[in-house]
Formats: sequence, structure tokens, C-alpha cells
Amino acid sequence: MSVLKPGLEARLRSVEEELRHVVEKAGRPAGSVKLLAVGKTFPAEAVAQCLPLGVRAFGENYVQEGAAKVEWFREHYPDVELEWHLIGPLQSNKTRVVAEHFDWVQSVDRLKIAERLNAQRPAGMKPLQVLIEVNIDDSPTKSGLPPAEVEALADAIDAMPNLTLRGLMCIPAPADTSEGRLKPLLAMKAFYDEFKKRHPQVDTLSMGMTRDMDEAVAAGSTMVRVGTAIFGPRDYGQRTSQ
Ligand SMILES: *Cc1c(COP(=O)(O)O)cnc(C)c1O
Repeated sequence: MSVLKPGLEARLRSVEEELRHVVEKAGRPAGSVKLLAVGKTFPAEAVAQCLPLGVRAFGENYVQEGAAKVEWFREHYPDVELEWHLIGPLQSNKTRVVAEHFDWVQSVDRLKIAERLNAQRPAGMKPLQVLIEVNIDDSPTKSGLPPAEVEALADAIDAMPNLTLRGLMCIPAPADTSEGRLKPLLAMKAFYDEFKKRHPQVDTLSMGMTRDMDEAVAAGSTMVRVGTAIFGPRDYGQRTSQ
């Protein structure tokens, strides 16, 4: 587990301030980009320090770690309504725990995963909000669906009663220059705009993390997922469960 260093509030406020600034600079409406706090590898107690600072939406990468945190918050903060997003890769043998714990899944990239989530979403919970992860820069090591295959999956999800398709997500490969970072983000925005013509209910384009938040907002992201800039550096050394 990672250790939270002092200064969480200052780091969070600085990210929020930077976000406000880049949103304004891009000529976009105030509040049009949602900030997701990514607390992966940090213990629940550390993530909980965000609550008095006003954060209500959290991203987690690892299914077991994320589900355990959701349960911890249900127990310790039963009256605080939180929004939990799975943003990491999802294998089909882990879909049940995801369907039972998370509010959003941003990394749907296969029909089988969508079908299982739809079947396993417990009655009485709101539909699971899903994004299709797109491999926009054709990175061989990346999860995500090639753009040409997105439409078929989206149509299938649209027909599933326990899933609500909210949009698209991408994680472009790191690049050294601002131009290099911007290029796949702009391609993704163009793809999203076309996609939205066929799926007018979608409202979410999730892209941008610590390294490319500014470029993502300039390109048209509606949700940024920020970990390091808020919580500090991560330590993966002790992590035992996926
Ligand atoms: C870890 C992670 C983030 C946050 O990354 P930082 O660089 O720490 O801001 C965002 N999105 C995904 C999919 C991640 O895995």
C-alpha cells in the first residue's frame, strides 16, 4: 500500500484550481469537466481524507482493492453518497464483484464483459453506468477496443437493461511533448463526436490523468482521472491482490 504524505488538501486544491484554469482557457463552461480522484494503492483511510474536502467520486483500478474500499466506506460512511468508478482492466471472472460494488465501469471493451455485468447487476441497484474503453492510438500493449469495433459493442450495451452507456474512455500512451499528448486526445474527441451522433444520450468522454490533464481538457474531455497529483506517488511494492 502507498503511504499518504501530508498536504492532501493543498494538492487537491491545486489540481482543482488547475482544472478551473484550463477549462476557462479552453473557453468551456465552468464545471463542465468532472474530477475523479484515483486512490488506487492508497488505503481506504487515506482516501477518506478526501471526504471533508468535498470529493465524492473515486476511481479504482484493481477489482479486489476497489471492492474492499467500497465496503469499507459503506461501513464507515453509510450516509455519504459516493460514486465508485472501476477504471482498470476487468477480467470476466471478476465481473460479479464489480457488478455488486461499483457505480461505473470505464473499462468495458468486450461483449462478454458487458453481458456478465448486465446479468450480475443486483436487482435494486441502479443500472451500472458504463464507458467503452477505446484503444485510440492502436497501442499493442493497451487494453481497449479498436475504434472500428466500438459501434457493435455500443449497440449491444444499449439493449441491456442493467447497463447505461454513458460514453467513452481512453488512456493514450505517454508522450514527451504537449503536441504529442494532444494528438491522440484530439483524435479521441473527433471519434466521440461522431459516436455521439449515433448515441445522443452519451455525455461522458473520460480522458486525462496527471500527465495529460491539461491537454485532455483542451481537447474536450468531460472527465479527468487524477491520482498522483492528488494523493502523491504510489508504491506498488506491497500490493498483493488484483
Ligand atoms: C492510475 C490511473 C489514473 C491516474 O493516474 P495518475 O497518473 O496517477 O493521475 C487514471 N486512469 C487510469 C486508467 C489509471 O490506471
